[in-house]
Amino acid sequence: MSRDLPPSVAYGITTPCQTPDGVIIFGMAGDLENGRRGAGKASAAARVLCLSCPVIDECGTYALDHGEPWGIWGGMSPRTRDLLRRQEAS
Ligand code: SF4
Repeated sequence: MSRDLPPSVAYGITTPCQTPDGVIIFGMAGDLENGRRGAGKASAAARVLCLSCPVIDECGTYALDHGEPWGIWGGMSPRTRDLLRRQEAS
C-alpha cells in the first residue's frame, strides 16, 4: 500500500464509506461533527459503516500517522484520534 494514499484508494476496493458512484462520505460526517446540527447522528452512522470495513485498522493507522484532522477514519472521530495522539505523545 502506498503511504501517500488513504486505504480505500490504495487497496483499490470499494469500502462501506463510498457511495455506488465512488463518493467518499466519511469526510462529510466529520464536518458535521465539528458543530453543525445532527452531528452526533452523522458521526455515529459513519462509525457504524467502518465496523464492517476490511481495512479499518489500516485506515485508522493512516489517519493517525498523517494527522488527519477531518472526518471519520477507521471508526475514529477527530476527537478520538486527537486523544490517542496525545496519549502516545505523553
Ligand atoms: S474504515 Fe471507515 S472511513 Fe476507513 S475506508 Fe473503511 S469505511 Fe471508510
